[in-house]
Amino acid sequence: MIGIRTSLPLPSLGEIVAQLFVYFIIEDYTNYWMHRFLHCKWGYEKIHWVHHEYTAPIGYAAPYAHWLEVLLLGIPSFLGPATAPGHMITFWLWIALRHIESIETHSGYDLPWTPTKFIPFYGGAEYHDYHHYVGGQSQSNFASVFTYCDYIYGTDKGYRYQKKVMKELKDGVKSTGLQNGGSHNSSLLREALHSHGVDESVITQVIVTRAEKDLKDIKKLYYKRNSETLDHAVAKET
Ligand SMILES: [Zn+2]
Ligand SMILES: [Zn+2]
Repeated sequence: MIGIRTSLPLPSLGEIVAQLFVYFIIEDYTNYWMHRFLHCKWGYEKIHWVHHEYTAPIGYAAPYAHWLEVLLLGIPSFLGPATAPGHMITFWLWIALRHIESIETHSGYDLPWTPTKFIPFYGGAEYHDYHHYVGGQSQSNFASVFTYCDYIYGTDKGYRYQKKVMKELKDGVKSTGLQNGGSHNSSLLREALHSHGVDESVITQVIVTRAEKDLKDIKKLYYKRNSETLDHAVAKET
């Protein structure tokens, strides 16, 4: 089959690593463009919406897709071994690693000790979670494995902006405190709404997250001042 050998001798470690590297690069690049195509109106409405039923994916959501998407995105996976065929062991290792990578990316866990943290330009769960969170209108984070394609073609702007806004909001809460937090927040949001390349739902997320944080702070403050929980007081009033 396409030059994949099954006989002895077994491939050296160097050969396996080099071929796996090539397979990952080819898969990532081809998958990026096919995934981007699936986000056009036709591609999304006919095929890709199935995979996006999960707005906060779990490991099982990795292969969950329309049958045509499974076939289409199989092409990038087989293109590497077809271009640079090696030993059957390398081929199966590649298929296993590609699935493990995809499950990790959809797992929802961005664990600090995962070995993939040491891979340069690796996307991971947080990166792909953003793509699922924004959903159909998403023009961000198309790549399957690495982050460099999105960076080169400018399709990580929404994601980077969201990270920036979240960081500034966190720092703003820390430095300005509860009293001034509101005005600082509104200027950030105004800036966000006037920026280009920002997904609308990212702003919604910022507002919702901020509102939750504010409510928590207000409840804490109320309890400190009145020695009674806000929920309890509201229940008494109504
Ligand atoms: Zn997608
Ligand atoms: Zn996905």
